[in-house]
Amino acid sequence: MDQVLLQQLQQLRQQLEDYSYQYYVLDKPTVPDAEYDRLYRELQQLEQLHPELISPDSPTQRVGAAPLTKFGQVSHSIPMLSLDNAFDDTEFTAFCKRMADRLDSSQDFSFCCEPKLDGLAVSIRYENGVLVQAATRGDGYTGEDITSNIKTIRAVPLKLKGDALPVVLEVRGEVFMPLAGFNAMNDKARAAGEKVFANPRNAAAGSLRQLDPKITAQRPLMFYAYAVGLVEDPAALLDSNSHYQRLMQLKAWGLPVCPEIRLVEGAQAALGYYQDILKRRSQLAYEIDGVVIKVSDLAQQQALGFVARAPRWAIAFKFPAQEMLTTLLDVEFQV
Ligand code: NAD
Repeated sequence: MDQVLLQQLQQLRQQLEDYSYQYYVLDKPTVPDAEYDRLYRELQQLEQLHPELISPDSPTQRVGAAPLTKFGQVSHSIPMLSLDNAFDDTEFTAFCKRMADRLDSSQDFSFCCEPKLDGLAVSIRYENGVLVQAATRGDGYTGEDITSNIKTIRAVPLKLKGDALPVVLEVRGEVFMPLAGFNAMNDKARAAGEKVFANPRNAAAGSLRQLDPKITAQRPLMFYAYAVGLVEDPAALLDSNSHYQRLMQLKAWGLPVCPEIRLVEGAQAALGYYQDILKRRSQLAYEIDGVVIKVSDLAQQQALGFVARAPRWAIAFKFPAQEMLTTLLDVEFQV
């Protein structure tokens, strides 16, 4: 056994675990995402060369980090996974080819293209149209109970609209802090000589994971739904045979869905969407770190399935990194 390689793997895993803990559990990242992504890639490539050395607790096999014990815990009946990344056109094209090969199909896909909102993933459970529980993603299997905090976000309906509502509906989406609210909050903190938030993602995570919902209520948080988790009595969703249609159904029930979401035909059109959003990135009211491109057809999604920690039918197509290490190191964080 190559001792040097083993040591290198161990070091990378430990480093990534430490960064994840600071990012997900403490809401205090110490390095920019691009640096985390670089090390993650390095580990992924080493593991691809030596698959026999992949351990089940490697960061490449896991989602997020364990939930904080100070919150009640919620287990997700359907795991909340992560997404694989593409960093350029070639990687995106390779993603499309892998899917076509797997389905043994020469046809192009219908893609649901969505901005990749930079916040944190939550699951909100409605029973007969009434909001009964909300949880963070946590490690994908167990999250934190943040029901009281979610209820303070005005965009989140406490009751869904319509008649034929499912008995149980889990809505998944992103809680984030729009830039206007983030800037106003930091200006106020600066004027009062208080600590500022490092970035909107950090501010959203710190605001949502407060033990006192009164603090969360004062923070300008927003929510966009982007997926459906568990549905009991799916009759209400029966007409939706595509991811895009499901999102439109969520919208009809009164859930906020990002207005930039588009259904496009084929890989070229999806690349066009990426370019268009990248161009307009600085004009959007919220921070995004890329776009998410999902095969929309639910039968194809099912046939493609999942691998380790992510679906095979979706990819996070990331934008080139913007942030600098100094922005993280210079600011004192508030949570
Ligand atoms: P990810 O952020 O790459 O992708 C999955 C997440 O995307 C989902 O959980 C969801 O929250 C979000 N998302 C936003 N819009 C979405 C949409 N329209 N549809 C579906 N999902 C959407 O993966 P991750 O596992 O959350 O985190 C990994 C990333 O976190 C890394 O790539 C890195 O950038 C960052 N990270 C940074 C540090 C650090 O120390 N700086 C540490 C750990 C992780």
